[in-house]
Amino acid sequence: RAKAAGRNTHYFFTDDLDKAVKESLLIESELRVALRELQFELYYQPQVDLKTGKLFGFEALIRWNHPERGMVSPAIFISVAEQSGLIVELGEWVLAEASMFIARLNEKYNENYTVAVNLSARQFKDKGVASVIRSSIINARIKPEWLDIELTESMLMGDISEALHQLDDIKALGVQMSIDDFGTGYSSLSYLKKFPVDTLKVDRAFIKDIPEDTDDMAISDAIIAMAHKLKMKVIAEGVETPEHVEFLIKNNCQIGQGYLFSPPLSEEKLHQFIETEQKNYEALFCRTEQK
Ligand code: C2E
Ligand code: MG
Ligand code: MG
Ligand code: MG
Repeated sequence: RAKAAGRNTHYFFTDDLDKAVKESLLIESELRVALRELQFELYYQPQVDLKTGKLFGFEALIRWNHPERGMVSPAIFISVAEQSGLIVELGEWVLAEASMFIARLNEKYNENYTVAVNLSARQFKDKGVASVIRSSIINARIKPEWLDIELTESMLMGDISEALHQLDDIKALGVQMSIDDFGTGYSSLSYLKKFPVDTLKVDRAFIKDIPEDTDDMAISDAIIAMAHKLKMKVIAEGVETPEHVEFLIKNNCQIGQGYLFSPPLSEEKLHQFIETEQKNYEALFCRTEQK
């Protein structure tokens, strides 16, 4: 059986080989099938304006609905897709799908909601990435600024001039750009101002222990202040409690995303959030403002 799979693959099936290697090979072959059979779905997590309680936009998060394993977390398969190169095809699907979603969403509600899409390191390095993003925008007939491309700090390090080139090509399309998981990578602060980035997303790690952890509060506060001085928006990830919101409002963070508001939702469920829960949050925020 192993031999039939191709040259040089037989040794992957011997007993002494690392289970993790076998597992990732299995996932890789199942990912190929999944791409062919479109077993993927995008979920969308709301992002809320902390000043007004109004919906700001969404982050698109991929889900793999595996026929036997059920929902597989992107934490498991994104890295395999990345290593195998399948992420390029998968990423194209995500961009096209998210763009068509934006068109339906903003048409239905007559709004200008922003939808963020995560780009992987491999996609970002690909010279053709700007034209892939461009095709998605054109096919879906959306305003480019409705699309927000999320990158991580590590993608921007290394060859800085190469990264700047890629960023400029993408930014020239008129999309928005964010740095995801900010504070966990190793970006050089001196380069931050050179990157055409609109938004910093404060990593959940700095939010989760607020208000107990005063160090995390100092770090979050510093990131928010720095972003504003650089004329960037700030989104806090992992907002789970009213105390988180209270801290963020006090420190001028405009936008929050997290389980307090909503987990990532299927497109079907999301309309309910917009039409009902959304109003509850607005009511909640009006009350806290009056206090
Ligand atoms: P991320 O981009 O930082 O996305 C945020 C993750 O935090 C999501 O996990 C989301 O469900 C989770 N989250 C949101 N609010 C809360 C909260 O209040 N508490 C906690 N504990 N978690 C929260 P998810 O959906 O499992 O995605 C994990 C990672 O997988 C993402 O992290 C992103 O790096 C990657 N990913 C997801 N979708 C895509 C995609 O389409 N393409 C690429 N390249 N990567 C993706
Ligand atoms: Mg993200
Ligand atoms: Mg993130
Ligand atoms: Mg994160």
